[in-house]
Amino acid sequence: MKIVLLGPPGAGKGTQAEWISAEYDVPRISTGDMLRDHVARQTQLGNLARQYMNEGKLVPDDVVIQMMRERLEEEDCRDGFLLDGYPRTLYQAQALDEAGGLDLVLYLDVGDEEIVQRMSGRRICPRCGEVYHLVNDPPKVEGICDKCGFTLKVREDDKESTVRKRLEVFRLQTAPLISFYASKDILRKVESSGSIEETTANIRTVLEDLEG
Ligand code: ADP
Ligand code: ZN
Repeated sequence: MKIVLLGPPGAGKGTQAEWISAEYDVPRISTGDMLRDHVARQTQLGNLARQYMNEGKLVPDDVVIQMMRERLEEEDCRDGFLLDGYPRTLYQAQALDEAGGLDLVLYLDVGDEEIVQRMSGRRICPRCGEVYHLVNDPPKVEGICDKCGFTLKVREDDKESTVRKRLEVFRLQTAPLISFYASKDILRKVESSGSIEETTANIRTVLEDLEG
């Protein structure tokens, strides 16, 4: 299966991506994680991307497209993949199309105010990338990563003003992909403004429906 998760920041793409990729046995590929890894390692790509990311803007298309071209050519993507955070512009979607078609685009739909609220509780582990939420998905020990024991922190671009900027970027640059994929008849909209469990259940309904 070649699946794309589409949705505004804070829609829960990362959280849902984990179980979907395990269940379908395809690699989860998150451009946000890949870019943050580049930033942390201070690669040339990371140094270029940092400023855009901290301002809530998109990293330029040519850079991201090239990064993903290389990633999708790797052996583990041969039988499918789950993309989280890519494509985010029509141009990226066209580049992805040229590399072969998709099977399914899950559009996680959430309203803006719900998103801003969610993001204020989000914490990440700077070492292993695990994501938590103070209310919805807290770590076992406050402030500490369950997986690796590192101290959790607020992501650089999760400040409210940056979140609002990212939302605006989503509505302007990424939302056009909804009709792009709807016209290809591979888009499924998933109500995602409830709890993690409710969104999981909604995705299951779609997947079961497809497997018919
Ligand atoms: P979220 O989905 O929570 O907004 P991500 O972790 O997916 O966050 O992305 C964080 C940032 O990384 C984005 O705001 C953007 O700057 C950059 N980024 C991630 N994916 C892409 C992409 N496909 N194209 C351009 N920039 C991207
Ligand atoms: Zn960790």
